[in-house]
Parts: sequence; structure tokens; C-alpha cells
Amino acid sequence: MDAVQVKHKSEGVKHCCYGTCNSDTRYRHRDDMKDVFFIPFPKPITQREKCERWIKACGRLKEDFNVDKIKRYTYMCSKHFVGGKGPTDIHPDPMPALLHNDEQVKHKSEGVKHCCYGTCNSDTRYRHRGDMKDVFFIPFPKPITQREKCERWIKACGRLQEDFNVDKIKRYTYMCSKHFVGGKGPTDIHPDPMPALLHKFMTNR
Ligand SMILES: [Zn+2]
Ligand SMILES: [Zn+2]
Repeated sequence: MDAVQVKHKSEGVKHCCYGTCNSDTRYRHRDDMKDVFFIPFPKPITQREKCERWIKACGRLKEDFNVDKIKRYTYMCSKHFVGGKGPTDIHPDPMPALLHNDEQVKHKSEGVKHCCYGTCNSDTRYRHRGDMKDVFFIPFPKPITQREKCERWIKACGRLQEDFNVDKIKRYTYMCSKHFVGGKGPTDIHPDPMPALLHKFMTNR
């Protein structure tokens, strides 16, 4: 069960990769997710040209999103097609992102703060949710300047190593304040996050 839940983070959840779209199967209950479904992204190996067209339509920074980023679990939601109901024979490709300017594209990877801890869903895009009240985001210690601390925090997150490791720590990697003793971020006495329960499960067997 534990391995499945960790895996869930990267594969079970379907998240739309289009521009600044927030569609995500974790938020099915939101009004704007009504009738939205997810289409697997064309794979570069089997449908290279289509894949490149879709990537272009997403309107994201090339270094942030390119053919190398297309995985088995990369999806686009049905909103971005003419009619908003997914690909059709006449319109098999998504519409190009309207939000093409640098600032808004940048927003996707940097402006949004998303918690990297275990299966935590904290995200600045969902500030309005009740469980996000008083939550704030702490920049992850960087491997270059704080290698040991960085590794301790990564361990505490309780995620699969191939999914989350020092190479995944970017300028815009954050952890939310919930995971510290007292739930109010790091303190002098408890500068590190609490280990994920999930992680405990897996290592105590
Ligand atoms: Zn979408
Ligand atoms: Zn969190």
C-alpha cells in the first residue's frame, strides 16, 4: 500500500501540462473540473510530429517542457481543444495557449509554489482552500549551499528516490509549513521537517 501511495504522486494523479492550466484529477470536486477529462500526450517515440505540435500549443518555456519531459503519465485536459471536449477528427490538436507571454509562462514553473513533501497537495494556486489557511512555503535547502540539510529534508519527504532527489531541487522547490513540529515552519529547535509517516512505514518493515 505504501509503495502504491508514493507512486501515486507521479503516476496515478493526472495533471494537465498545458500552459497555466490547473486541471488535476486531485481536484475533481472543483466546479471548473466538471466534465473535464484527460488525454494522454502523444509520445515522441510513436508520434513525434504530433507530440511537438502539442508541446508548442502548451506555450511553455522550452527548458521547462520539451519532448524529454513527455512521460507515460503526461496528460492534457479536454479544455484546450476546439469545443472543449477533447480532440476530434476535425480538430485533433489543442488550441495554442493564449497566455504566451514570458511572464505568464514563467508563472507555471516559478510563480506557483507547490509543496514537495510526500503526498502533500499544498499549492499557492489553491490558497482559497480551508486546509491552506496560514500555510506558507519555505524554500528547500539547496544542494550546492546546504548539501547535508538538503539531503535530510529530501529523506523526510518520504518519496521514491528516483522521483525526488538532489537533482530535483530547483530554485523554485518549496516545502510547506505543515511538516514542521507545530506546523508553523522551521524553528531554532526544530529546523528540519518531520519525517513522512509513509516513509516510516516503508523503512520499518
Ligand atoms: Zn488543462
Ligand atoms: Zn506540504
